[in-house]
Amino acid sequence: MSGLAFHRRLGGRLLLQAVLWLVGVSAAGAVPVFQLGEGGLGRALSDVSDEWLNRGEDQPEAVLAELEQAPPPAGGVSVIEWQRMRARTRGLVAARSGMEDDVRRALDTLESLAADGLADARFRAELRGDQALIQAVLQDLLGHPGEATRQGRLGDQSYDQACGSRQPATDCDYRAWWRTLHLQAQRAEVRGDLVDALNLAERAHAVAERGGDPGLEAWSLAMQAVFQQALSHVDQARALIALADRVARRHGDTRSLIWVRFAEARLALEGGDPTTALRLMQQCLRLAETLHSPRLEARILPSLSDLLRRAGQPREALQAVERAYPVLRRHHELRGQPTLLHNGGLAKMQLGQVAQGRADMEAALKLWEATGARAAMRVALQEGSDALAAQGDVRGALELLHREQALRAEINADNQAAILAQMRATYRTEAERRELDLLERENALRSSHLQTQTLIERIWVAAIVLLGLAAGVVGMLALRARDATRRLRHSEALLRVQSERDPLTGLANRRHFREVLATRGGAAFRGALLLVDVDHFKRINDEFGHPAGDAVLIEVARRLDGSVRAGDIVCRWGGEEFLIFAPDLQGEALDALALRVLRALGDESIALDAGRFLPVSASLGYAAFPLPVHQVALGWERAVNLVDMALYTAKSMGRDRAVGIQSVSVTDPLALQSLEADFEAARLAGEVELQVSLRRDY
Ligand code: GH3
Ligand code: MG
Ligand code: MG
Repeated sequence: MSGLAFHRRLGGRLLLQAVLWLVGVSAAGAVPVFQLGEGGLGRALSDVSDEWLNRGEDQPEAVLAELEQAPPPAGGVSVIEWQRMRARTRGLVAARSGMEDDVRRALDTLESLAADGLADARFRAELRGDQALIQAVLQDLLGHPGEATRQGRLGDQSYDQACGSRQPATDCDYRAWWRTLHLQAQRAEVRGDLVDALNLAERAHAVAERGGDPGLEAWSLAMQAVFQQALSHVDQARALIALADRVARRHGDTRSLIWVRFAEARLALEGGDPTTALRLMQQCLRLAETLHSPRLEARILPSLSDLLRRAGQPREALQAVERAYPVLRRHHELRGQPTLLHNGGLAKMQLGQVAQGRADMEAALKLWEATGARAAMRVALQEGSDALAAQGDVRGALELLHREQALRAEINADNQAAILAQMRATYRTEAERRELDLLERENALRSSHLQTQTLIERIWVAAIVLLGLAAGVVGMLALRARDATRRLRHSEALLRVQSERDPLTGLANRRHFREVLATRGGAAFRGALLLVDVDHFKRINDEFGHPAGDAVLIEVARRLDGSVRAGDIVCRWGGEEFLIFAPDLQGEALDALALRVLRALGDESIALDAGRFLPVSASLGYAAFPLPVHQVALGWERAVNLVDMALYTAKSMGRDRAVGIQSVSVTDPLALQSLEADFEAARLAGEVELQVSLRRDY
């Protein structure tokens, strides 16, 4: 992520988080008096509640005290309705500033209202919805996404029961329901469940429409645009954001305009236009400033700081961070804090304050770790590593990369079962279907194996019983058995060929490759290994979609295959990692192959559909075994591990290069262990000699 200030994934998440924080900061204007407008009674109360909620964002204590004193309005509002609104508003104000005691008091009040004999079933359902909403907001703020989601779901069900389509549209507080759905949509997006997120945003829009609130409508439309874009439905996203903009301009207020701008900034960024994104985000902040709410600004500033850093303005980025951080701390808004610390840390590094920057980054990582935000941690580690590499601290960069790798392995291990299940459920592509086919056939084959075995056993029984009597029958059965065995062999051969191939690229797969390597000298593996990893591949997926990523992998495989000689084997080792085995290569000829591979991958852009060309590069680690100078012999697994270390050195030096292990000073495999334990230290101590080749002169 060279010099990259704003990683797309994380960026997306940050922006979304900021949108999320605004849940409930409503589109109502600043009208603190009771007016029975078109929406009827419910709407009037809801407007008043929103006014308090907005002010409560910055001055929770003052607003809570005011609410304590506020007299019920004159004329027509039932006392119990009024009490509900007041308790719910208090609960939400308190929840948004992490004031747990006040939250509990408000929940108790709502509970006792539900127990009141005056409450009918529908009103009780609304009260349940309120309670769940308050809890969801609090849990979300405190960084407990699972519990927030559970409560949100409960809230949705309750409001649906009270205000769903079976009920008349008047006198319902649609904004509370909308808030619940909005929050759920956000949670779904953070979980990575975009389809669910989109669905929830659509429902939120419908609820806003039903409640006649164009400000919230605009907001939900903007959210839909963001999700559609994330699903690569660019045209829909464009249409939705234009519609959101129209609605917000015509009917909405400043707050809805802010969030439409915010979404636009995000779309611009993901559409590859950070300059426009920065301009829109600055507009967004200026709009927010007119509302004199530091809290509102503090939700925009993290994203702005990212964009500023990305635009090469670390000083301004740091200013943005320093402006927002104390505000979030004051309101116990835990979730925004690691993001700000991280951004500030990176900005400091860019400004040469490396030690301080690193300390901030570590603090951010701790906060993320506490909430189990491992995906954010991975991106943060990658960005930190890039920043250190840019400062020339290769060792530090490498250390962060190793941590990132360990975390990735941990996540992978946890997710493997889930991923498998998902693959089975979706099998979208031909390739996946074929893989499933293969599994099924393997099973079928196994059972036919059993059948043949049984058949043979029967023949023996028959032979013994009928010996001498029915030689002809035995002969016939024997023929059938032979036939079955022949068919079996044939399908076994077919299966073997298929099970050795990676379905996407047609290259040898990992299983097959391991079998080949294992035959190469056991504990003393012989031959050269080159491990190739496409640089920043995730960005290709993120920017152009998964199918484009697949197309790139296919082309990379083709180019790799074209770079090696007959007798060499190229294998798809993992997602965007390829391993080349060249049995007889070493010395300069091996260096030359590494360079050839770099050039084959990087010199010419890869053609996507619609005439687009994508520049791609890769990093390489390689070595010949047994290891020179003392011909240290290793098993193949350790050999792969060593070239992996060389690969990571290539990554930390800036990518798009090949790093070969020329020689090691140790004389035996045992001594090599300490070298493997700290490869970078060994390199600096001169115990490993590396050959670094660049694809071109920079
Ligand atoms: P680096 O330069 O550090 O290697 O960055 P990177 O983005 O290439 O590395 P990372 O390992 O973070 O990302 C690899 C990505 O490859 C993540 C995964 O979603 C994607 N990927 C893995 N297998 C496939 C595949 O079969 N098809 C597609 N399209 N993407 C894949
Ligand atoms: Mg990789
Ligand atoms: Mg990669």
